[in-house]
Amino acid sequence: MQTPLRATSTRSTFSTSPKEGLCGHALISLRSVHPTQFIDITDRVSALVASSGISLGFVNVQALHTTTAIIVNEAEPLLLTDFEATLNKTAPIDATYRHDDRRLRVKNLTPNERTNGHAHCRALLLATSACLNIVDGRLLLGEWQRIFFVELDGARERAASIMVVGE
Ligand code: ZN
Repeated sequence: MQTPLRATSTRSTFSTSPKEGLCGHALISLRSVHPTQFIDITDRVSALVASSGISLGFVNVQALHTTTAIIVNEAEPLLLTDFEATLNKTAPIDATYRHDDRRLRVKNLTPNERTNGHAHCRALLLATSACLNIVDGRLLLGEWQRIFFVELDGARERAASIMVVGE
C-alpha cells in the first residue's frame, strides 16, 4: 500500500539570474523510503515559483535519474496503488532483464550495482520532466492536479532540478 508521502528535504537552494525575476534554478533533495513511491512535491515547486517573483512564465521540473520520473496527476491514495499495480504489470520486477545479467553486462557497472532493469523499463513509460505554466505569480494547476516525483527503484537519495523562467 502506497501513501502520498511528502518529500523529505535535506537541501534546497534557489538562485536568480543577474536579470532578477527572469529565471531561477533550484535543486531539491528527496529521500524515498519505498521501492515504488509517488512523492508529492507540489508545495515545494509552488513555493519556488512564488519566491522567484515571476508573474508570467514556466516552471520546468526535471528528475535527475534514470529510474525516476515526474508526473502530474491526482493525489488519491487508492489511485496511487492503481498506478503502482499498472507499473508492476507492465514491467514486472520478477521478469528477466538483460540489464541485470552480470554475465552480459559490460557498461556502466558499479561495485554496488542494483538489480533494476524493471525500474528503467518503467521509467521509459513515464516522463523525465514536466513543464507547467505560471500565471499571476502562481503555479497554474487544475483542481486535482499535483506534481509527483516518482521513485521506481527506492529507497534512496534523489534529486530534482527546478527551473523557473518568465517575466
Ligand atoms: Zn540500472
